[in-house]
Amino acid sequence: MSIFEELESEVRSYSRGWPVVFDRAQGSWLYREDGKPYLDFFAGAGALNYGHNNPALKQALIDYLQRDGVTHALDMFTAAKRDFLETFKEKILGPRELDYKIVFPGPGGANAVEAALKLARKVTGKEAVINFTNAFHGMTLGALSVTGNSMKRGGAGVPLVHATPMPYDQYFDGAFPDFLYFEKLLEDSGSGLNEPAAVIVEGVQGEGGINAARLEWLRGLDDLCKRHDILLILDDVQMGCGRTGPFFSFEDAGIKPDMICLSKSIGGYGIPMALTLIKPELDVWEPGEHNGTFRGISPAFVTAAEALRVYWSDDELEKSTTAKGERVAEAFAGLIKRYPEANLVAKGRGLARGMEFADGKLAGAVCKEAFDRGLLMETSGPDGEVMKLLPPLTLTDDELGTGLSIIDESVAAVL
Ligand code: PLP
Repeated sequence: MSIFEELESEVRSYSRGWPVVFDRAQGSWLYREDGKPYLDFFAGAGALNYGHNNPALKQALIDYLQRDGVTHALDMFTAAKRDFLETFKEKILGPRELDYKIVFPGPGGANAVEAALKLARKVTGKEAVINFTNAFHGMTLGALSVTGNSMKRGGAGVPLVHATPMPYDQYFDGAFPDFLYFEKLLEDSGSGLNEPAAVIVEGVQGEGGINAARLEWLRGLDDLCKRHDILLILDDVQMGCGRTGPFFSFEDAGIKPDMICLSKSIGGYGIPMALTLIKPELDVWEPGEHNGTFRGISPAFVTAAEALRVYWSDDELEKSTTAKGERVAEAFAGLIKRYPEANLVAKGRGLARGMEFADGKLAGAVCKEAFDRGLLMETSGPDGEVMKLLPPLTLTDDELGTGLSIIDESVAAVL
């Protein structure tokens, strides 16, 4: 492993908790070079909702490569992009009665966020944006400016400006009515709050600690934005593509945000791809005003379209994600009962689940114990105090049982 330590920057992170060399991956499993299997409950931080090397997607990709389909295409028209757009319209937008135009903003989630922030400012002529406590939107400067984590913000090296944080749902454990502070500041001409162009929010905060906003809170936010003429940007980079059950994390709230950021699992196969969905009336870009070399990675269009056909032609995946999520919730309830003195808190929705420990050391220690038992799991939250489960949505019931048993043993070992 010495070449990694010799050449790779200290900035690497996941390889520190999992200091082994992986070589193969299939479904819910990653395999070390010597063949030792690891059950993957992190799934590429939500980029692998359909599992590693999903056979149906792999076949579509192989067929495309075999016939010398275009790989790189800037934002030129390609058959692969057309197929993706038609399929996205047919399987996702149409059935949900959503009317959006699609920006291909560059390959990562932060690209989708930057495009949304930029467009919100261009459309409204205002520069201020409202974000939420414990938000995470990516590591580029605009995205960092609306991110909560102080360590990550500190990496910017320049002042992060033009964003004001407001309390996310349950930040005060329900002690105050929703949006009491936010609305007062908006309405009080002496509050000092600059008129916001947009609000950016996650339906469930992943990096911030698996904080699931209540649907009524999301509806309240949507209503507040409408009443004050503020654009609502919903960042579904990590929680979209079925992670919480429905395709979009906010779907059950019945809202239609002005812009939606998608990345991670939208490519289906772990190939970089991102989208910023914008209401048609917001499409005021000049040609090329927002640009980038890697906005048309055709192999990602191919696997993305195939994933939509395979998993979003019916509600089977949504139902199974909800059922599996409930099984995790039951297992967590059992742990809470078994260790009353530990003050554990279960969090999440669908297959984005978290267990909050008293501190980051405990959650980290559980993840380490799990790793030693062959399970990959990460922590999240401002102090790494939440053990975070993001298994592939396609995992089998047996695999879920195996993972939950390892978690059981790991929690027992630590507590
Ligand atoms: N937005 C959210 C909600 C995320 O969870 C992430 C990454 O975890 C991002 C944006 C940034 O995505 P990327 O790391 O692909 O830039």
